[in-house]
Amino acid sequence: MKVLKKIDVLIKAISNIPNLGFVPTMGGLHKGHISLIKESQKKCKKTLVSIYINPKQFNNKKDFISYPRNIEIDLKILKRLKVDYVFIPVADEIKNINVTNKITLKNSEKILCAKFRKGHFEGVLDIMDRFIKLINPKYVFMGEKDFQQLFLVKNYIKKKYKTLTYSCKTIRDKNKVALSSRNILLSKKDLNKVGIISAKLIKIKSNINKKYLNQNYLSSLKKELINKFGITIEYLEVRNEHDLKLMNTQKKYRIFISYYINKVRLIDNF
Ligand code: AMP
Repeated sequence: MKVLKKIDVLIKAISNIPNLGFVPTMGGLHKGHISLIKESQKKCKKTLVSIYINPKQFNNKKDFISYPRNIEIDLKILKRLKVDYVFIPVADEIKNINVTNKITLKNSEKILCAKFRKGHFEGVLDIMDRFIKLINPKYVFMGEKDFQQLFLVKNYIKKKYKTLTYSCKTIRDKNKVALSSRNILLSKKDLNKVGIISAKLIKIKSNINKKYLNQNYLSSLKKELINKFGITIEYLEVRNEHDLKLMNTQKKYRIFISYYINKVRLIDNF
């Protein structure tokens, strides 16, 4: 496993690899990340994992500071998985990658997390633009856990590069909690609550006919979750997978939720 920190060293190492899989992460690796890496190893000859906590995508400085960092453990995990390349850049070098356009979201895209985290996805698209330009992978592997991110990045990359975005299923623990680097910020009691909330939403998705999932139903569900678990809900919405428009006649839909539990912000979709 080659650990690369400088851009010129990275370019030398990977420039002749035609079938390169890329897994961008912010570290704090867990089984969700590992599933992306394994998918890349299945599909591609070589795999590159990046670990970079991108300051531009944090709309809140405190959140950036408290974001879990554990590079030593991450490197052990990546070595065990026999990852070919790990890229750990510094912000100063990232700045120098030459990308031309300034990224803005359309009004129709300012929904779900984009509505509550101003500048977040602009920061995500900016770093993905720089990474794809620099790395030029055949595939980039991303998780459905961050469905809106996956949706925006996939569309952005498709317009500008040849790289294909490959989406990977959300990995959950045995209590149905979606794995996330932020979960270590939660107490056992809160994790337990998150499990109950997730199991409930999974059950609703599989048992309730779409036509009953209307605004009234969602409003009363929201109240129920707030009262029962003491959480603050940013959004609880049903949108179709294809274009993220509010529920319409499209068959495939998802329930999207974002909430704060004891100051920790979680997102999930079912
Ligand atoms: P992050 O390190 O949180 O930026 O995540 C890096 C990548 O891992 C993103 O594409 C995420 O969507 C993906 N990811 C995070 N958690 C999970 C999970 N529980 N299951 C599948 N993919 C995940």
